[in-house]
Amino acid sequence: MTIENPKCGFIAVLGAPNAGKSTLVNRMVGTKVSIVSPKVQTTRSRVMGIAVREDVQLVFIDTPGIFEPRRRLDRAMVAAAWSGASDGDVSLLLVDVEAGIRRDTKAIIERMKKEGRRAHLVLNKIDQVPKETLLGLAQTLSEEGIFDHVFMISALKGKGVEDLMDFLASHMPEGPWHFPEDQVSDMTERLMAAEITREKLYMQLRQELPYATTVETETWEDRDDGSTKIEQVIFVERESQKSIILGKNGQQIKKIGSQSRLELEEILDRRVHLFLFVKVRENWGDDPERYRDLGLDFGA
Ligand code: GDP
Ligand code: MG
Repeated sequence: MTIENPKCGFIAVLGAPNAGKSTLVNRMVGTKVSIVSPKVQTTRSRVMGIAVREDVQLVFIDTPGIFEPRRRLDRAMVAAAWSGASDGDVSLLLVDVEAGIRRDTKAIIERMKKEGRRAHLVLNKIDQVPKETLLGLAQTLSEEGIFDHVFMISALKGKGVEDLMDFLASHMPEGPWHFPEDQVSDMTERLMAAEITREKLYMQLRQELPYATTVETETWEDRDDGSTKIEQVIFVERESQKSIILGKNGQQIKKIGSQSRLELEEILDRRVHLFLFVKVRENWGDDPERYRDLGLDFGA
């Protein structure tokens, strides 16, 4: 395929945890490239989702929500989010209109002001609030003076997303495409597979536990019979967490494993044999190698 006038640009998607960044990126790309959950901080590293509109390639940089860092892992995520912002030709600041303007959103706006950056404001979750609330928020946020345009969308329902996409497509710089036309993400299959299992963990387990877990794909074997054998390790920090993940008679991990396998089969379009192991590794949050695997900077 030859593209007449190729255009290509990077769009940084910023916003507080839970604003709907990953939901929006997945919708724009048209397939799931970033994991979503009702818990905050599901997205740990920077994920690129790639969409094509005629001769325009749009590369969305989904970032971990920017928030006030406390632990080392948090600091690395914040650093990844800001470097995502610097890589973008355009920045979108997503605001959850149901949650309103919270500390995280304020902190992002302050930092953008300090660095002289501009963005488009995207008010998300408009399916959740009355019109007056929306207009009030748009008014208040416009007064910050850093937004060029305001969009009102529901990333979940798809409302307003097409208009936003059209707008972005018509504002991308001219230049060759950065990725092959059929590529939708910059993630490797191994990392993607680990992320999918991590998402199922987040959905199955309650409270704080998931934050103490990380998932790694250890082996990947495409077999001659058309199936793929995948072995993954779920790392936890304590023995007690291990038994929670395993569940009574291994019921919990079985459930997580079968949910993950079903989704992997759908994405990879082949049969998958998934084997999950749970291991205790104290302080994995302080292990440099884990950071590299996640695409995060240990020293941040
Ligand atoms: P992120 O942390 O900013 O990446 O947010 P996610 O994309 O993970 O979404 C956080 C939660 O908000 C999930 O439960 C989504 O289903 C939900 N969500 C995202 N967009 C919308 C929306 O437009 N409307 C509603 N009602 N929920 C949404
Ligand atoms: Mg996310």
